[in-house]
Amino acid sequence: MLQKFVPRQQVATIYEIVLAELWDKGIRGIITDLDNTLVGAKEPLATPELVEWLKHVQAAGFKVVIVSNNKEARVSRFASPLGIPFLFAARKPSNLAFRRALQVIGLDAEQTAVLGDQMMTDVLGGNRMGLHTILVQPISPADEGFFTRINRRLEKIVIRWMKKQSSK
Ligand SMILES: [Mg+2]
Repeated sequence: MLQKFVPRQQVATIYEIVLAELWDKGIRGIITDLDNTLVGAKEPLATPELVEWLKHVQAAGFKVVIVSNNKEARVSRFASPLGIPFLFAARKPSNLAFRRALQVIGLDAEQTAVLGDQMMTDVLGGNRMGLHTILVQPISPADEGFFTRINRRLEKIVIRWMKKQSSK
């Protein structure tokens, strides 16, 4: 039952993702979360390192869309200077958020990966849609809001369950 919260892949940061491996799996698009995945939740803009990484990802042939549950003002201010399409107030894990994102990049679920730092939104929603889910460690957990902190408690339950499964 908890299987749907388990990511296909886990990395410490987005910079550890081996793009060639994704490409070989047939992945051509990336739906990425914003807060604590690309930058800390209180960082208004992309870091130079992130700007370079996003250029590199796109130059490698991947389509990218930012999908955030955060408000328009936050997401737009961050994504507009990058010239990357974005969806705000997306209500992840809702399927609609991911369906709209796939429309934006014009790809099917099997061709697309989801990057995110939360099991309850990014991973659950992505898994339900058949996307390749990649969980990253949150960049600045101290800056998380009320609902995210509740989600983190639920994540601990899943993590304990995952450990039990792997020791069976
Ligand atoms: Mg996040």
